[in-house]
Amino acid sequence: MPATSNKPYRVGRSKTGLGLFATKPIRKGTRIIRYFGPILDSRIPEEDEIENKYLFELNGRWTIDGSVRKNLARYINHSCRPNAESDVRPRERKVFIRAIKNIEPGDEINYDYGTDYFKAYLKPIGCKCDSCEKKRKKLRAEARAEAAKVKARKAKKAGAKGSKTKAAKKKKLNGHAVAKVGGRARA
Ligand SMILES: [Zn+2]
Repeated sequence: MPATSNKPYRVGRSKTGLGLFATKPIRKGTRIIRYFGPILDSRIPEEDEIENKYLFELNGRWTIDGSVRKNLARYINHSCRPNAESDVRPRERKVFIRAIKNIEPGDEINYDYGTDYFKAYLKPIGCKCDSCEKKRKKLRAEARAEAAKVKARKAKKAGAKGSKTKAAKKKKLNGHAVAKVGGRARA
């Protein structure tokens, strides 16, 4: 990607495919990249019908179609706890991605795609951002710990029940045996 050589980012492999990664330190508040593409007008039916994952709605009327190859910002993945944000300027019909944290070289750049995108594309497959992965890991660990506790409790109960049953069986057997013996003895 020669066009990005003097830029503080590069396209690279991420967990979910490709992503945009910092190649230089990016200070909090810095405008990193512009999210651009043809502007679609929702009042024009043919434009309103365009559907892809890279549509960036500016407002009720205007949408940026970011699916064009030159728009490297389209590689930026979603995160629920991002290090950048989209700076939306509907009147200029422009969107910039701006750092909201200091970003170190090698860090993946991400921003929150918003609720609509999340619901439509991420929730059905499960969000793979670091924050959600961590949450899932924690929940899994908690579930495992809980399952282990329940298992231990059950084993304890079963053990207690087991000895009771055994004792009861013994008594019954003894009773039966006694009765039988008694019966036999009587017969
Ligand atoms: Zn997430």
